[in-house]
Amino acid sequence: MKLLVATNNRGKVAELLRLLDLPGLELVTPSEAGLAPDYDVEETGTTFKENAVLKAEQYARAAQLHALADDSGLEVDALGGQPGVYSKRFAGEDATDQDRINFLLAKLPDLPDEQLTARFVAAIAFAGPDGQILRIEEGYCEGYITRQQRGTGGFGYDPIFLVKAAGQTLAELSPSEKNAHSHRGNGIARIRPFIQQYLQNQS
Ligand code: IMP
Repeated sequence: MKLLVATNNRGKVAELLRLLDLPGLELVTPSEAGLAPDYDVEETGTTFKENAVLKAEQYARAAQLHALADDSGLEVDALGGQPGVYSKRFAGEDATDQDRINFLLAKLPDLPDEQLTARFVAAIAFAGPDGQILRIEEGYCEGYITRQQRGTGGFGYDPIFLVKAAGQTLAELSPSEKNAHSHRGNGIARIRPFIQQYLQNQS
């Protein structure tokens, strides 16, 4: 079965390709599915789940394929949960990952490091080719914001997110270590058995 990875974020695609390595499943990117390079879905939801559903439904319908969407972001407790669902747009539409990191660090209040608690959240939605949502799950990764960037792996806010369970930033972890700890890895682990069963029922 072909499964469209409903994102143009190359960091997410790389992680999802590793995480969804299931027999009988062929993952395809939007360009491989014939979608225009600038195909995008407006993220009008106010929760990760709402936006994941919008993306899964619309990508699936546009490509007439099963689709898997990830809507994710960073919640910083000292910023009242910001940037949350606005993680991508936090520092403006054309901002780079480094711009977003600088913007977030500049907003941090003057608190001791151990009070800079934060979490990554990922909502993962799986849709059929007609856009019907078949399953939705969420995954989390708890940690702290670090004022000093560390590591070069991953993408986005990874260099300033210290994983509580690992004592390293997400950017210091190898791709497989990041997947073992991350919100995305955690969310996919929850939805994977459903997709596995779905594949079995189809064959
Ligand atoms: P969206 O899900 O396309 O709305 O974008 C989520 C944004 O959250 C990304 O552009 C990143 O800035 C951030 N983000 C999501 N997941 C990760 C991650 O695994 N590491 C670092 N930043 C992430």
